[in-house]
Amino acid sequence: MPATKQSIRAPNPPIEDSVFKSFRLDGRTVIITGGADGIGYEIARGLAEAGANIAIWYNSSPKAAKIATTISEDFNVKTKTYQVDVRDYEAVETAVAQAVTDFGRLDVMIANAGIPTKAGGLDDKVEDWNNVRAVDFDGAYYCLRAAGLVFRNQGHGVGIATASMSGHAANVPQEQSCYNACKAGVIHLAKSLSVEWAKWGGRINSVSPGYVDTEISEDCPFEMKEEWFSLTPLKRDADPRELKGIYLYLASDASSYTTGADFVIDGGYTAR
Ligand code: NAD
Repeated sequence: MPATKQSIRAPNPPIEDSVFKSFRLDGRTVIITGGADGIGYEIARGLAEAGANIAIWYNSSPKAAKIATTISEDFNVKTKTYQVDVRDYEAVETAVAQAVTDFGRLDVMIANAGIPTKAGGLDDKVEDWNNVRAVDFDGAYYCLRAAGLVFRNQGHGVGIATASMSGHAANVPQEQSCYNACKAGVIHLAKSLSVEWAKWGGRINSVSPGYVDTEISEDCPFEMKEEWFSLTPLKRDADPRELKGIYLYLASDASSYTTGADFVIDGGYTAR
């Protein structure tokens, strides 16, 4: 008797026919690091609007509690704040476990916290390099790892890492080789983890924003901003709300066949 051929093809997941419904996140739990400020805050609002309950992780933001209440009231979802320094793996793992207890489930981890501090130049201190790396690279790995352990146990889960266009191009004019290298690392970390996570049903992608009008860029001198605008084909920076859509796509079942990808949202900067 000839052996029956057995395909390695994985079965399709349940596919929602309505494209609008495929973007819904009703009842799901999302952790967003750096969720009380800038891009993270807008992601939190966008995903809450789609029905997700949100665990807002913050480091020191005094706005966190108020933001959580506002999002909860605006979108009728559950929110909770967690003060976590992403440089501390034990704290990250504890906060992930606490979020699972508080919300009863965890579906998405968005490793978004980051600092664009100048570091890595010949005149910069090695301590600065270590600190930027600890937040921007190690911190992203710690958050994805801690959530990934939960996701693997349950056989599903989505990771999203906020990288940067600086991970694609040596961003100017500030000397920030450490930030640039860390963000390139984050893109490849997400890619590498996507291959590992696919074995048990997890997905992971990264987003690389260009210049976004958040507190990070508020202190930049006029001339520096003008140089950014001149280098960006759309000749402006982004409103952080312009990032919400891509995170919603990646967090939801709309992206069920998307993994290991990086999404550059930079007004054309890296296309030049
Ligand atoms: P932001 O300063 O408004 O937010 C950054 C958040 O990270 C803050 O909430 C801060 O408290 C948090 N954070 C910093 N150190 C932390 C730590 N040790 N532990 C926990 N949280 C910590 O800046 P943003 O513009 O919203 O940046 C969000 C992400 O987007 C960052 O990863 C940043 O590198 C990336 N990014 C920003 C831009 C931009 O132009 N704004 C461009 C590309 C990428």
